[in-house]
Amino acid sequence: MTQCLFCRIIKKEIPGRIVYEDETALAFEDINPQTPVHILVVPKKHIDSLSHLTKTDKDLIGSLFLIVNSLAKARNLAQSGFRTVINTGPGGGQTVYHLHVHLMGGRQMTWPPG
Ligand code: 5GP
Ligand code: ZN
Repeated sequence: MTQCLFCRIIKKEIPGRIVYEDETALAFEDINPQTPVHILVVPKKHIDSLSHLTKTDKDLIGSLFLIVNSLAKARNLAQSGFRTVINTGPGGGQTVYHLHVHLMGGRQMTWPPG
């Protein structure tokens, strides 16, 4: 059994509030939302982080952002705006080492982030 939390959600070994799924990606609600809309978009293929991307992942990474685009529209965030975040490595605040894009919105975001 895999130890990766998000691989386990992808394999439905543990529950996730899934909002989108296709052959290569899954999107689900963050368990500890920081914004009214807080969705994680992940590739089904395990990739540790953005630092571990290779050229073979070029289409995959593009697909993740197209999913973000359509989810933002579906949640009525496209007009107001939203934030996408990819935390990478310890210094970037990454806590789950399976590449994921945070889609966050539904309130005014501020800058700089913490
Ligand atoms: P990171 O800090 O790695 O960028 O983001 C990891 C995210 O995963 C956090 O926002 C955290 O709330 C979320 N998370 C951690 N464990 C679970 C879980 O079991 N289920 C879901 N849906 N989200 C999780
Ligand atoms: Zn994984």
